[in-house]
Amino acid sequence: MSQTLALLEALITRPSVTPTDAGCQDLIAERLARCGFEIERMDSGPEHFRVANLWALKRGSAGDDAPVLMFAGHTDVVPPGKLEAWTSDPFVPSYRDGRLYGRGAADMKGSVAAMVVAAEEFVVAHPEHRGSVAFLLTSDEEGPAVDGTVVCCERLRARQQRLDFCIVGEPTSVERLGDMVKNGRRGTLSGKLRVLGIQGHVAYPHLARNPVHQVAPALAELAATEWDRGNSYFPATSFQISNIHAGTGATNVIPGDVLIDFNFRFSTESTPEGLKHKVETLLKRHGLDYELAWTLGGEPFLTPVGSLSDAVSAAIAAETGLKPELSTTGGTSDGRFIAKICPQVLEFGPINATIHKVDENVPADCIDPLKNIYRRTLENLLL
Ligand SMILES: [Zn+2]
Repeated sequence: MSQTLALLEALITRPSVTPTDAGCQDLIAERLARCGFEIERMDSGPEHFRVANLWALKRGSAGDDAPVLMFAGHTDVVPPGKLEAWTSDPFVPSYRDGRLYGRGAADMKGSVAAMVVAAEEFVVAHPEHRGSVAFLLTSDEEGPAVDGTVVCCERLRARQQRLDFCIVGEPTSVERLGDMVKNGRRGTLSGKLRVLGIQGHVAYPHLARNPVHQVAPALAELAATEWDRGNSYFPATSFQISNIHAGTGATNVIPGDVLIDFNFRFSTESTPEGLKHKVETLLKRHGLDYELAWTLGGEPFLTPVGSLSDAVSAAIAAETGLKPELSTTGGTSDGRFIAKICPQVLEFGPINATIHKVDENVPADCIDPLKNIYRRTLENLLL
């Protein structure tokens, strides 16, 4: 049986719903230690939400004269939801019609298993490999992501750990393994706006001030604003209102305030500071009495075409015959934290059609090719 599938099965069997790791990282650490990796735990967080983090490093023969490639990923999975909805137990690996079913099969225990076996094969086949191989795994990517990758990146930065390339194993393929690689992600910035008015009787508007009437033209202007035009890697920054609440429920009362939630998904052509400034200037120009609280969910990152994307593309072409599309679509990922300490970060993994869904699965015959692509990438960059 395939080593990669066997490891994937062993990981699915461990019910590691965020932030629980359920022994996934112990299993991986044991295997990596056996083939020469130095292992370090970087667990973090309070007792009631303890996050398991694993750092592992296999030094290359050329020491500081050769690059370091880091595989990054998460061992946690999202909750399965109602168990009755699943065709088979989400934590018992099950094969049907050539697919392997189980929570985490695609997001992202399949990639984690493939990375581990790729690294094992690489160091056995090339004991004198020049460059170094590293792993950074967390059990909190799907949750608040406060004590996971971001904490480890801070530690690695503090000790000046060299990193040249990183592959995050998020499932990025769309229809066939290798058809898409992510070379960046948009940023996300949210605002909670409260516009204040004066509550009153609808029949006596001169004694009240209607915040809905006051904010409406400002919202129309915000919705029509062109924030940037994007660039060759990113679509234009988008502004979306997600919630509006005002009113007491009675039809004869002018509301005293209106609450509006909005979000930007922004490209590398805009900055959080620039977007905040534009919004506040606009609100002030409309003469609004308001309170506004911002949350920066994640900064954008971008890895332009370069040695890492060339190495991954060549590995994909050699294994599958496909030429991957580089894309920055989709939500945020831990790539945003890693990009701060590593100049080239790409995300590549299996087909993402069933992630977070009931009956999550991967085609069983894509897991070894995925492992081979990771191994070929190591060979392209570290020999
Ligand atoms: Zn994931």
